[in-house]
Amino acid sequence: MIPYGRQEISQADIDAVTEVLRSDFLTQGPVVPRFEQAVAKKVGAAHAVAVNSATSALHVAVAALDVGPGDVVWTSPVTFVASANCARYCGADVDFVDIDPETFNMCPKALREKLEATPEASRPKVVIPVHLCGMSTPAAEIAALGREFGFRIIEDASHTVGGAYKGQPVGSCAHSDITVFSFHPVKIVTTAEGGLALTNDPGLAQRMSLLRSHGVTRDPALMTHESDGPWYYQMVELGWNYRMTEMQAALGLSQLDRLGAFVARRNVLADSYDSLLSGLPVTAQARQAETLSAFHLYVVRLDLSQTAPHRTVFERLRDAGIGVNLHYIPVHLQPYYRGLGFGDGDFPEAERYYAEAISIPLYPGLIEADQDRVVASLREALVP
Ligand SMILES: *Cc1c(COP(=O)(O)O)cnc(C)c1O
Repeated sequence: MIPYGRQEISQADIDAVTEVLRSDFLTQGPVVPRFEQAVAKKVGAAHAVAVNSATSALHVAVAALDVGPGDVVWTSPVTFVASANCARYCGADVDFVDIDPETFNMCPKALREKLEATPEASRPKVVIPVHLCGMSTPAAEIAALGREFGFRIIEDASHTVGGAYKGQPVGSCAHSDITVFSFHPVKIVTTAEGGLALTNDPGLAQRMSLLRSHGVTRDPALMTHESDGPWYYQMVELGWNYRMTEMQAALGLSQLDRLGAFVARRNVLADSYDSLLSGLPVTAQARQAETLSAFHLYVVRLDLSQTAPHRTVFERLRDAGIGVNLHYIPVHLQPYYRGLGFGDGDFPEAERYYAEAISIPLYPGLIEADQDRVVASLREALVP
């Protein structure tokens, strides 16, 4: 089976992790801060807070923006469930903004229309645009709406480490309060499990680092009263243990050296898919000017008027040893969200996308012969 995604681990990665295992610290040592600084420097953000997953990064981000019961958070329905769940962890309500059928990302026009149609008291406190497949949303447009309608922005850039928008790396937070990265093995660079939150706001950075470690501080400046002695620490708010280990950070730091090469390779493979697929009844994500995709995923939408049914195409590909996948089942159709009142027909573009989309294999180690096999299998699978 050719998988849809796969990590690439080098000898240097293995050596970096082994070195940490022989050192004094497996957690709370010097490598995590080094990794944080390296990522922040790479993307041009002032602060980075590394955590044990992007899900945790989204949670501390939403919490640091004071989201709680009575607040509303909006995101895209075409994303991994974590983009929405973070608001629920804080007791807030979730709603969705339908996608643009060509970019597969949250549609800024739909966002404006929904904001205008929503009474001021029910408007979102935070909007979480998701840069699907590695391609940035029109972040400047969404930021302008944020200023006009008074919401904060967390970019879910789990797919988009190494991507760029309007000449700036995604993660610079030029158009958001916080940006979140994932380092799950299928993503662009990996720490096994791991995530990171970037911000240019020192207050948010400090709050997120407190929240990732129980809300506990040893910094006298953050304490409510003078320290009892050298052993003293204070828990100043309710946090969690979301810390990244030293081994994870060492792997991430080593992988980061190859970020540019990974993204370049993914773009070469995506360009080949574009030309190999031309003439077939499928459409890829529309490329956007001023945007460099990190190409976490290559998704095709079937023209169902000319192809076999979606499910048949998917099954034929799996049977042919092509590890296709579907990103994503619209979040509002998950039983948990249906239980909150969402249902069929709420976000028609997302649902149409779900009925047509298939992610085909894309990862730096994919070779041209595999790619030819993927396309040959797809060509056969599409036949009605
Ligand atoms: C992978 C992913 C997450 C969650 O990442 P973890 O690191 O596995 O917690 C969140 N949002 C999106 C869009 C993702 O693809």
